[in-house]
Amino acid sequence: TPVEELTLAQAQQEIGPLRAQISQWGREYYEQDNPTVEDYVYDRAYQRLVQIETKFPELVTPDSPTQRVGGETESQLTKVRHEIPMLSMGDVFSLDELMDFNSRQQDNADVEVTPEYNLELKIDGLSLSLVYENGKLVQGSTRGNGNIGEDVTANVMTIKSVPHELPEPLSVEFRGECYMPKKSFAKLNAAREAAGQPTFANPRNAAAGSLRQLDPKVTAHRDLDTFMYYVPEYQKIGVSTQAEALDKMRELGFKVNPNNRVVHNRQEIEDYIDEYTAQRDQLTYGIDGIVEKVNDLDTQIALGNTVKVPRWEIAYKFPPEEEATVVRDIEWTV
Ligand code: NAD
Repeated sequence: TPVEELTLAQAQQEIGPLRAQISQWGREYYEQDNPTVEDYVYDRAYQRLVQIETKFPELVTPDSPTQRVGGETESQLTKVRHEIPMLSMGDVFSLDELMDFNSRQQDNADVEVTPEYNLELKIDGLSLSLVYENGKLVQGSTRGNGNIGEDVTANVMTIKSVPHELPEPLSVEFRGECYMPKKSFAKLNAAREAAGQPTFANPRNAAAGSLRQLDPKVTAHRDLDTFMYYVPEYQKIGVSTQAEALDKMRELGFKVNPNNRVVHNRQEIEDYIDEYTAQRDQLTYGIDGIVEKVNDLDTQIALGNTVKVPRWEIAYKFPPEEEATVVRDIEWTV
């Protein structure tokens, strides 16, 4: 039944099993690094839940997947509290939706939002937090449920692109994406298959499974890489825009993706999306979309966030590549 036609009683009946199904897929994906359905199947179910909750706000519960950052931390890794929560990100699936997001952003803001955005590739890996004290790397952690992540410091120390020491004595947290290059993923899976071990579903899950190891020696052999893209306390590094933050991180020795672009209008956004939709397969790492961020960092702070996502950034997700070939469809209604 289309959501517009649902009665409250029907919605009530559907929402429980729908949430349970989404949570189950979430556990498989975030906890076990072993998804059982394609992302677009998850996204479609999630979108339907959002639509039902938008139509019937009285049905929203605090434990709904729409109100929580995906991923618990049930592994044996030591837990880490994120003083500044590591959030998820909203998403849109078309340019029109993206432009709507931008106009609503201005409508809802108390501040003047200059339409200047930094566009970046959405790297298909898992979020990583790196904390430096006096220029020395002291902690690496995963996002977990956003407030509590997992301590992966020893594992992170084995990743070549992560500097152990910065050229300046900074005490700052840097965030970015840990990912596995496509070639390394193919090699790893081939080796696992030859050894009779279970293979990883995709590079994102391989990266997560490799970073969240109890033994850093295993991680060291997994060829993980990073692209850093966020400095929550940007004042500490003396920058005022997202594009400057990326440059500064590069200067400090982090690996930063070179393909960001500052844009101001629909045409420029469309061009960027078209370029990277076309180039996507040639990249040596996986991307699942484009991220648009308000470039001015003070404006980001003024826009703030919801319980789950920042209001100053949004992901444009590429259309699924293999939808036509999928054999099984998922039924979650009772
Ligand atoms: P997300 O992974 O889609 O987006 C948020 C994340 O994007 C951030 O946490 C960050 O790690 C990452 N990111 C990559 N490049 C970035 C950049 N340049 N700037 C900022 N952030 C960047 O959100 P999510 O809530 O973690 O997960 C939802 C995604 O996971 C969906 O794509 C969904 O399909 C997938 N998922 C799939 C299943 C499944 O069963 N297949 C289950 C759960 C979730």
